[in-house]
Amino acid sequence: MLNEALPKRIRYPHAGVEEALLEGFLPMTRMPRLADALLDNDLDTVSVPESVMVRLQFRQDGPGRVLVVGEAQFEQQWRCQRCLEAVLLHSGCEIEMVLASHKKVIEQLRSDQDSLLTDGDLVDTADIIEDQLLLALPMSPKHEDCDPAFEIPELIEVILDASQADGEVEEGRQRPFAGLKRLTEED
Ligand SMILES: [Zn+2]
Repeated sequence: MLNEALPKRIRYPHAGVEEALLEGFLPMTRMPRLADALLDNDLDTVSVPESVMVRLQFRQDGPGRVLVVGEAQFEQQWRCQRCLEAVLLHSGCEIEMVLASHKKVIEQLRSDQDSLLTDGDLVDTADIIEDQLLLALPMSPKHEDCDPAFEIPELIEVILDASQADGEVEEGRQRPFAGLKRLTEED
């Protein structure tokens, strides 16, 4: 089952009655906004996973609505914000979303309940998953444990040392950027 592609669209009222369980992969090409976000990962060699693994369980949730619960996950290379090397991170999200084709049904839901207003009885599987995965992307990708190769405070110290060596101290005040200025000005 896990090696099968998810159906592109699902007649979800039917899936709710049957309590259908769908497991499989969703090609990344079906989620262009997520693919764009993954390409913006600051690495020289960019690659995006071919697909996302998905599990979706449907069930009836009241008049005119169906609840879908499940999860989606994938792995992606990022640039570690601490050591600046590539890091492979697992991203995933849990899904709990009410599907309904009438606006009134959606309006009656609790405000913290994820929902999707559909056009008729069909729902696009990518529409259930893409926004949730975008929200789950790492804000600041890092290795769990790594050594920093580059720290800004050390760089400022180097500039301070350089300016002091050249006697760039004015009224007892250090001019941390005097060294930089010299580098950018022609004598
Ligand atoms: Zn790192």
